[in-house]
Amino acid sequence: MTRSVTARVPAKVNVQLAVGGLRPDGFHDLANVFLAVGLYDEVTATPADELRITVSGADAHAVPLDRTNLAARAALALAARHGIEPRVQLHIAKDIPVAGGMAGGSADAAGALVACDALWGTAAPRTELLEICAELGSDVPFSLVGGAALGRGRGELLTPLQTGSTFHWVFAVAEGGLSTPDVYRECDRLRAADGQGATVADVPDPEPSPALLEALRTGDARALAAAVTNDLQPAALSLRPALAATLSAGTSAGALAALVSGSGPTCAFLAEDAEAAASVAKGLAASGTCRAVRVATGPAPGAAVVGA
Ligand code: ATP
Repeated sequence: MTRSVTARVPAKVNVQLAVGGLRPDGFHDLANVFLAVGLYDEVTATPADELRITVSGADAHAVPLDRTNLAARAALALAARHGIEPRVQLHIAKDIPVAGGMAGGSADAAGALVACDALWGTAAPRTELLEICAELGSDVPFSLVGGAALGRGRGELLTPLQTGSTFHWVFAVAEGGLSTPDVYRECDRLRAADGQGATVADVPDPEPSPALLEALRTGDARALAAAVTNDLQPAALSLRPALAATLSAGTSAGALAALVSGSGPTCAFLAEDAEAAASVAKGLAASGTCRAVRVATGPAPGAAVVGA
């Protein structure tokens, strides 16, 4: 019998995304407060003749099947470190919107690592898995760790955060995605056009908000709603002006806070409790301002083998 290993990995929302100036290396320093939420991709690793990627789910057509797929890159990186031939099929059951600002590709990378590590018996230490994650992308370490965390640097230097309770979220999934590099470029362009300047010399160093960290720690949804910010939101709205209507539809439906998730175009709405979330979801669905509406709670656990 062929053994398979499945890993389940959450999406994320950035409850704070403070973006510093453009660095000479083309990246931006961030103060990035991640919250993992219960929308999951599943990555199943099965022995095969060669590395193969298959994808199912509504957005499957938008996911690359070659070695540019982040899940493939993760498997190749683990195999190379352990001198293993990457003879594996990775099936991605995709539920996280693609190019939606919810770290879907990063989730698949973390899931592939965890699943291949279990399938191949490499038993890589956590520090090694985190190292590979950081090589693959700024959001990948958080997909492995889950929960809530502060990311510094490009977002990959993580400090776990305690959360006082479960937060209730509604997500408005947009038609089509936004490219994260395009959104950062638009952020720089808007800053330069403002006369403010876009480089590290012009923009204050990004710092986590003490009020936001306290709201997470105490589990106070109203205080969290008052503190959420996303420096990429003006850029996402500039590239996709229709998102303004989505944000106001969620607010009119009773959301405590409405913001673009990461680089967008998914919009995230914080609700007081499960009942309020259901009512925000209903209002959004009726508004006709998004492709789909999802309800999820956070924090959610990071990448883990199902049934382990
Ligand atoms: P983030 O929130 O981390 O900025 P995102 O959620 O906006 O990312 P992804 O879903 O990760 O965006 O997809 C970004 C691009 O990465 C896609 O357009 C796709 O071409 C590519 N990609 C590579 N591997 C994957 C994968 N496993 N799943 C989805 N997209 C992938």
